[in-house]
Amino acid sequence: MKPLVVANWKCNPTTLDEAREILNGVKEGMREIEKVEAIICPPFLYLPYWVEFFSKKEKKIKLGAQDCFWEEKGAFTGEISPKQLLNFGCEYVIIGHSERRRYFGETDKMINKKIKAVITTKLKPILCIGESEKERKKGKTFEILKRQLENDLKDLSPNTHNLKSLIVAYEPVWAIGTGNACNPKEAKEVLIFLKKFTHQLINSPAQYNSEGIYSGSTNQLLYGGSVNSENAKDYIEAGFDGLLVGGASLNAEEFIKLVRSVELFFKIC
Ligand code: PEP
Repeated sequence: MKPLVVANWKCNPTTLDEAREILNGVKEGMREIEKVEAIICPPFLYLPYWVEFFSKKEKKIKLGAQDCFWEEKGAFTGEISPKQLLNFGCEYVIIGHSERRRYFGETDKMINKKIKAVITTKLKPILCIGESEKERKKGKTFEILKRQLENDLKDLSPNTHNLKSLIVAYEPVWAIGTGNACNPKEAKEVLIFLKKFTHQLINSPAQYNSEGIYSGSTNQLLYGGSVNSENAKDYIEAGFDGLLVGGASLNAEEFIKLVRSVELFFKIC
């Protein structure tokens, strides 16, 4: 599986012209990239433009959304459904980002409904989980991640849902947009925990290394939180399957530099 670099543009940029400029730069830069898949998650408003922009043959850049509702359609003012996203060419949807949890009161129960709707619509959910600074200082990181996963993935099993497409992003809340990225060694400890726990929880197919030793879930696991072109490869080296990038994805040059550093790491290995 190719490593993923997911660009979360959040509520940026302000104009379509700026959005075009970033996307043109990313498209240009991705021409020389072979081993990494970039997923751009712009604000909903820019999605129609993207559909025109991408040809069906576009393989290296995929389109994603930053959120969605759980119902297919109906009287839900202001919401966007997974089916509508699918019709606009989206393949991925970020669900449960900490900013949605914090500013918009999203609960694990809501996130659970969203994940089910996204999977049922055959989109790929990128579930974000992560502890706050206070929780980390109290040594509660694993407890919080376990609780979030249990609740967000409640009643999901390979018998009822196709869980192969589920992607989990570890995003420590204190590292998002702060410039204070998680130490890769500490992130690796979390990765090891997540691999085992996700596998147990959703009974996903186990993965074995070249020596036949069990190494956990096959679901892709990403790191996010102040990733830039300097530190990106450290998380790939730690074993993550990709990255979720906020601030650094708004500058095409920096974003491509970051993608290139991930690709270079893969070529060397
Ligand atoms: C994010 O938005 O998920 C994120 C990780 O942001 P940043 O890269 O700016 O920390």
